Amino acid sequence: MALLFELTDAQEEKAKKWLEEHDCPAKKFMSATGSSPALGERVRFVFVPTMLGDIAVIECSCGAYELLTGWEDL
Ligand SMILES: [Zn+2]
Repeated sequence: MALLFELTDAQEEKAKKWLEEHDCPAKKFMSATGSSPALGERVRFVFVPTMLGDIAVIECSCGAYELLTGWEDL
């Protein structure tokens, strides 16, 4: 059985917006030095299964993270 984790459209929007807008030292460093991770791996998604449903979190390589799941999603 496959385990699938999905973001809703609203969560995907929230993730993109947050990635653009959070105050990101990693992004500043990359644009200042013109360097970027070998595979472009600046972001990762974490899914935490709970009794109420999956909690989705986006994490940036700078260490910042944002919850994408709100109470309305559970
Ligand atoms: Zn960041």
